[in-house]
Amino acid sequence: MEIKAVRGFNDLLPNEIGKWQFVEETAREVFEGFGFSEIRIPILERTELFSRGIGEATDIVEKEMYTFTDRSGNSLTLRPEATASMARAYLEHQLYTFDPVAKLYCIGPMFRYERPQKGRYRQFYQIDAEVFGVENPMVDAEVIVMLIHFLKRVGLEKLELQINSLGCHACRPRYREELKKFLTQKSFQLCEDCQRRLQTNPLRIFDCKVETCQEAIANAPKVTDFICPECQKHFDKVKEHLETAGLTYILNPRMVRGLDYYTRTAFEVVSYQLGSQNAVTGGGRYDNLFQEIGGLEIPGIGFAIGMERLVSLLPKDKEFVQTPYLFIAALGEGPLKEAYRIVNQLHLQGIRAELDYEGKSLKSQMRRADKFKAQYVLILGDEELKQGKAVLRNMETKFQEEIPIPNLVNILKEKVRRQE
Ligand code: ATP
Ligand code: MG
Repeated sequence: MEIKAVRGFNDLLPNEIGKWQFVEETAREVFEGFGFSEIRIPILERTELFSRGIGEATDIVEKEMYTFTDRSGNSLTLRPEATASMARAYLEHQLYTFDPVAKLYCIGPMFRYERPQKGRYRQFYQIDAEVFGVENPMVDAEVIVMLIHFLKRVGLEKLELQINSLGCHACRPRYREELKKFLTQKSFQLCEDCQRRLQTNPLRIFDCKVETCQEAIANAPKVTDFICPECQKHFDKVKEHLETAGLTYILNPRMVRGLDYYTRTAFEVVSYQLGSQNAVTGGGRYDNLFQEIGGLEIPGIGFAIGMERLVSLLPKDKEFVQTPYLFIAALGEGPLKEAYRIVNQLHLQGIRAELDYEGKSLKSQMRRADKFKAQYVLILGDEELKQGKAVLRNMETKFQEEIPIPNLVNILKEKVRRQE
């Protein structure tokens, strides 16, 4: 029987990889321009990093983690997100001894046991950026500015920045109680999950996708009416800095984010092109995460962009697939040998070139060149070879010229250079 990939785990095929490379390259360029450095962290961590870091009463820890016991009896988990691992690495390697402020980014796969559907997979990719060690609201705005700048650079439109403040450990408990009181009166409207959330983590009810739960929470008290003066001041400053940067935002008091570690600033960027899975990216401040995992009081802020959802929004007319620069159609044994020599030479110069190893008919070779969308075809037969010449055909303009074979590499290099 044919073996298939595991449900929710996708192959990214060569015809779509150009978009992914473009997104990753743009992220590296933009983030490094903002002073961020890449960090690569393991895919596997001790389970308690996530259960303590993300919080027991969250969707991720409750039901979405890929957790297993290894052969030595350790409980390990495939990372469902990167922030906790990045914070662990920062503590473990004492990056704060070099400088208290660390600006880091990370690109890679995450794993969550969710019901696979469009825009929701079990292995999916995220681009994460985090700043550790700064409490100042300037950095909240800076991170958001970088995010929006990046999304625009990759070509996204119809974006909306939503922000909220979730308060801190001093003021949130009071809000939680108010919300609980409000929702207890409407508990008959809540789904089974939310009945439980009402006891363990009522803020998460905002995230529930069940319609009756959404109705129940429609007129709930707003978290921003309960935040303490310090949180209010922080939030006002974030808004002020965003305005200075020329960004427009929408206040969304119902956006609470699904992870326990968030405090104060929370934000999401939604796109109106995506249907129901419309959050491309989300992030926020987490001033308690480090305490949960390492006992140090270090503030942090960052975001995670879902790459599948981002890639699905890229402009359709943009060409991302790499096509060969040259296809050599060789006719006969001698020309094929010469074509092989030329192709190798071009590869060493970094010029994409292809040939037909079987040296089929000219017609079938031209068909392949067309299929590959080669920009040029070099036609090489016995007669041409004898004269040390070949015909170079521009596939777009159909212009043909005869060129001396020894000059071919230089001629092509010149054409590539002009194109760049
Ligand atoms: P959602 O409400 O859609 O479940 P989330 O709050 O769980 O999102 P985060 O943990 O904030 O998402 O992750 C950040 C981004 O990662 C999301 O905005 C989304 O683009 C992407 N993402 C999250 N889960 C998945 C998934 N299972 N498959 C594909 N992308 C995902
Ligand atoms: Mg989720």
